[in-house]
This record gives sequence, C-alpha cells and structure tokens, in this order.
Amino acid sequence: MLTYTYISKGKFGLVEKPKPQIHNEKDAVVKMTLASICMSDLHIKHGSVPRAVPGITVGHEMVGIVESVGADVKTVKPGDRVTVNVETYCGDCFFCKKGFVNNCTDKNGGWALGCRIDGGQAEYVRVPYADQGLDLIPENVSDEQALLVGDVLATGYWAAKISEISEDDTVLIIGAGPTGICTLLCAKLHHPKRIIVCESDEYRRQFVKLHYPDVLVTLPENVHEFVKENSDHGGADVVLEVAGAKETFRMAWECARPNAIVTIVALYDEPQTLPLPDMYGKNLIFKTGGVDGCNCRDILDLIAKGKIDTTPLITHTFSLADIDSAYELFENRRDNVIKVAVKNDTKSIF
Ligand SMILES: [Zn+2]
Ligand SMILES: [Zn+2]
Repeated sequence: MLTYTYISKGKFGLVEKPKPQIHNEKDAVVKMTLASICMSDLHIKHGSVPRAVPGITVGHEMVGIVESVGADVKTVKPGDRVTVNVETYCGDCFFCKKGFVNNCTDKNGGWALGCRIDGGQAEYVRVPYADQGLDLIPENVSDEQALLVGDVLATGYWAAKISEISEDDTVLIIGAGPTGICTLLCAKLHHPKRIIVCESDEYRRQFVKLHYPDVLVTLPENVHEFVKENSDHGGADVVLEVAGAKETFRMAWECARPNAIVTIVALYDEPQTLPLPDMYGKNLIFKTGGVDGCNCRDILDLIAKGKIDTTPLITHTFSLADIDSAYELFENRRDNVIKVAVKNDTKSIF
C-alpha cells in the first residue's frame, strides 16, 4: 500500500509498504478515507521531534472505515466510519482514569501514531487500543466535518474546557491558525461575553471576521491597548496562547487581568521566560501542556447538532498520490491555505 514516510531529516516521500495487520487483540486496522497535514508533521520533517523515528509513516489526524479488529475490541466493528485519535491511551492506568490521557503510562501512550508508530497518511493504519483510539462518526456527519476531531479540534476543545470560561468573561485567543480557530469555536460553546482574536496574518484576520462576525480582531502590535479598551477589568479574564511565536508568551500574561487564567496551548521552539518579579502580585493561574484527547465522542455529538463546524478550515484537498504537492502548499503557506485534506482514492489491489 501507499504510505507517506519520514525518510530522513528534511525528507518525506511516498513509499510502498505492506498493509498493516492486527498485532494485539486491542488493535484495529482502519482504511483511511481522509487525512490532514498538521504543523507537527512539519516539525517531524525538520527533525525537531526527536522521538519520531525515520521510516515511520507520518500522519496523525484522519478519518476512515474500520477494516478489521482484534478479538478484544468492543466499541467498533468492520465497516464502521470512525475518527482516529492522535493520542494512544490504555484507558486503564492512573493518568487515563483521571482523564489525563496525554500522560498515559503505556509504552505507546501519548502521541505515537505518525511519530513513533506508523500513522495515517497512508491507505491503511493500525490503531492500538482501538476502543479508546476510535470514535464512531454519526450518520449525519461527513468525513470532512469529522476530519479535525482527533487532533486540532480535540486540542481546541480541551483548551477551552480547562480555561474555566464563564459568561462574564473577555477571552483573548492569540493566534488564528487551525488550532487557534478550533480553540475559538470551542470557546464560543462556553458563551463568554466577548472573544478577542489576535493574529498577524491579514488573510487569517479576514477569515475570522468573515466566519465569526461577533468576534473582535486585533493585530499583535495593538493587542495590549485593544484588550484594555475591550474588557471590563483592565485585561482579559482568560487568555489562550495558541501562536507559539517569539513574543506571544509574554503577550499572553501581559494582556491578562490580575487573577486571570492563562492557558498555554502553543508548542514553542525555544524555552520561554517566566519573569516572576514582573508579574508579582498579578496572581495569575497558568495551565500548560498537550491535549488530553478523550472528548472526541462529545465533540462528534456537537458537530452532529450543528454546534461546531470546521469545514471552512479545509481550504484544499489533494489525492494521497499527490501528497508531495499538498505538503509543498501547506509548508509554504501558499494560496491562503489553512488546512489541507488528503484523500485516499488509491485503487488498491488487495
Ligand atoms: Zn497534529
Ligand atoms: Zn493509560
């Protein structure tokens, strides 16, 4: 079968590999129908994910049809249309039981698919712990509508949830890339008084204005002033930092009012400074980390009810055989790309 593989630093390529098989009774094999490309795939390509093993098939955000299941899989069966979770988790360890599935202690726990084990930019993918890793797509939800559920939408949902947003709050979201917009969609579910989005890219600011006209939009250079003018207590009640740029960590806590919650969703290339003397007395609450992706069922229900729609984010679609072009476009941010979908329309001879 056709796979998109991490060959060496700086190089991904289409490689033929054998179709995956069930290794463990808790596994499922899924025929990918639609996958997407994530920033983390580019981080692997550029060698900044040391855990990623050359030779693995990349891709960790996809939907598909269950092809086969191990004897212990209970929640899905062959023929089911499913989303695949970016995180592998056992469901049984201390962290899983608390819902902190990102820290599952299983050897494949956390982000394994498309990083440490073969992922889903391929015709088929083997998913360990299928009962946890797969969720049924409701009948009235399309593959496109469900595509981002397992990764960027799960991240936005988790970030909004841990940020304790209430109806009196002014919420500042820094960054309107795919994860930033998913965070915006999920913050809206908590009905805050205002949402302000800070974004440097002109097209992305326009995108937010067009699709979410009730959201306020500002530029990084004006953000301090703008937030002060458009909040009730001298700063944002909740800040979600999703940009991960050089100045955005400092911007996040500076724009927060005293006693605010500052949630760091972004992954930085460099260490950040927490200048405690400068923020002394501001009594901020920082929440940080990677998604605990165990709410996909709830997210799919919200999509089915029309409460979340990420389809405008999918700006381009390519065939799996043409995935090199998809990466070229995504990596160079050409043609105002936000998210690229990769379709498995390969005619397999199995
Ligand atoms: Zn990702
Ligand atoms: Zn676990």
